[in-house]
Amino acid sequence: STIELRDSRLWRERALINGEWVTSERGVSFDVSDPATGACLAHVARCGMHETERAVLAASLAFPAWAARTAKERAEPLKRWAALIAENVEDLAAILTAEQGKPLQDARNEVLFAASFVEWFAEEAKRTYGEVIPGARRDVSFTTVQEPIGVTAGITPWNLPCAMVTRKAAPALAAGCTMVLKPAEDTPLTALALGELSLRAGIPPGVFNIVPSDRSGSQSVGEVMTTHPAVGKLSFTGSTAVGKKLAAACAGTMKRLSLELGGNSPFIVCEDADLDIAVESAVFAKFRNAGQTCIAPNRFFVHAAVHEAFVQQLRSAMQALRQGNGRMPGVHLGPLISDAGVRKVKAHVADAISKGAKLEVGGQALDGAGSFYAPTLLTAVTPEMLMFQEETFGPVIGVASWRDESSLLEAANATRFGLAAYVFSRSADRIHRITRALETGIVGVNTGAIATEVAPFGGFKESGIGREGARQGIADFMETKFICQAYA
Ligand code: ADP
Repeated sequence: STIELRDSRLWRERALINGEWVTSERGVSFDVSDPATGACLAHVARCGMHETERAVLAASLAFPAWAARTAKERAEPLKRWAALIAENVEDLAAILTAEQGKPLQDARNEVLFAASFVEWFAEEAKRTYGEVIPGARRDVSFTTVQEPIGVTAGITPWNLPCAMVTRKAAPALAAGCTMVLKPAEDTPLTALALGELSLRAGIPPGVFNIVPSDRSGSQSVGEVMTTHPAVGKLSFTGSTAVGKKLAAACAGTMKRLSLELGGNSPFIVCEDADLDIAVESAVFAKFRNAGQTCIAPNRFFVHAAVHEAFVQQLRSAMQALRQGNGRMPGVHLGPLISDAGVRKVKAHVADAISKGAKLEVGGQALDGAGSFYAPTLLTAVTPEMLMFQEETFGPVIGVASWRDESSLLEAANATRFGLAAYVFSRSADRIHRITRALETGIVGVNTGAIATEVAPFGGFKESGIGREGARQGIADFMETKFICQAYA
C-alpha cells in the first residue's frame, strides 16, 4: 500500500467475487488518487459486465443457504463484522482519508457510524415480524411472513465511502439477501477493506461481493445490475440524474428500488432561536465533509430580526475553521473530492455574486495541489441564484432573510427535492407548524446532527424512494408474503 497501515492486508486492489480476490478478466485496472495531493494511491481492478455477471451468479448460488439460516445465525458473522470494523478503525480511517480527503477524526467517526449499521441490523433481523390477521372467516387463517428479496445490488457514492456501504449491505445481509456492491470510482479502497473484514468475520463466500470500476466501467456494471433477471433489488445512493436512469433501467425486470438521491435542504432560523445552537449546528452540518453530504443545508433562511447577529456569529465561527490535508491534526475540513467539485462551487458563487449576493467570508479556490475551496459565506442570496436551486456540494453558505412564516414555508418547499430540513426555534407551536409543513423526509429541530442507524433516512419527492436505517431499512430488503390457509 502507498500509506502506512497496521494491517497491510486491509489494502485490497482486486474485486471480491465468491470470497476470492480476483483481477478483472482482461487484467485492466484504474487509478485511485488522493484529493489532497493529486497523488496516485492505487490501481484497482476495473470490472465490467463479465465480472458483474460472475458476481451475480456467485450471489445467486450463495443465496439459498444464507436465506435458510435463522436471523440469529446470520447475526453471528454480522456482529463479528461490526466488531472488526470498530477494531480496525485506525486503518479504515487512514484508507478513507487517503482516498476521500475528509479529516481523520471525521473518517474515524464515519467508520464507527458504519459499524453501527452492521451491529444494529444484525439485531433487527430478529424482529422482522409477520402478522396473524384476524380473519373474516372461521375456516381460514390469514398470516404474513417477511422473506428476503434475493440477490441485491448496491451502488454507493464517494462522500461516505464506508457508511454508505454498510447502510446497504448490513440490512441486505441481515434480511437474508446476498449483495453485489459497486463502490464509487473515487473511493473503492474503503469498500474493499470492508470486504476483507467481511471474510474474516465468516460471512460466507458469495454473500457479499464487490465489483469496483471507473466512471465508464460503472455503466457496464450498472447495466448488468439493472437488467439481470436474477437481481431482485437495486439500492443506490448518488445523484438524482443517475438515480433516474437506473430506475428506468430497472423497470424492465421490475426490480425493487431504494434510491437516496440529491437534496436541497433548507436551514430555517426563527427570531426566537438560540443563536449559539443555530450557528454551531450550521457549521457542523455544512462543513462536515466540506459540505459534500446530501443532507448538508443548502439554503439558509434567517429571520430578519436575528439576521445580523446570526451572520456575525457565523462569520467568526467560520474564520476559526482550519482547512488542509485531512491527515494533519486539527484540520476541520479537507479538499473537495475533485477539481470538478471545485468548478461547481466556483460557478455557484460567481452566479450568486453576479445576481447581487454579498461576499462575507472566503470566496476562492486555494492555489497549489489538491482540490480545495475556502469556507465561504454569502448574504442577500435569493431563489433566482443557482446555489438555491441546486446542491452546491461544497463549503458555501448562502443566507436569505425572511419575515413572514407562510412565505418562508412556500420558499422552503419550492424545490423538487425533499430530503432534509433544519429548524431553529424555542417555540413549540412554531416548531410544530413548521416541521409538519415541510415536505422533507427528515427534519432536524435545534440540531444539525440527524443521521443515525436507528431512525429512517430518506427523502420525499425527487430525493428518492425508500428509507435506510431503522426497521424500515430492513423491511425494504424483504417481501411480504400473505398466506391464506383454509382448514377443516
Ligand atoms: P456523484 O455526483 O455523487 O458522483 P453519481 O450519481 O455520479 O454521484 O455517482 C454515484 C454512484 O453511481 C457512483 O458509484 C458511480 O460510479 C455510480 N454511477 C454513475 N453513473 C452510473 C451509471 N450510469 N450506472 C451505474 N452506476 C453509475
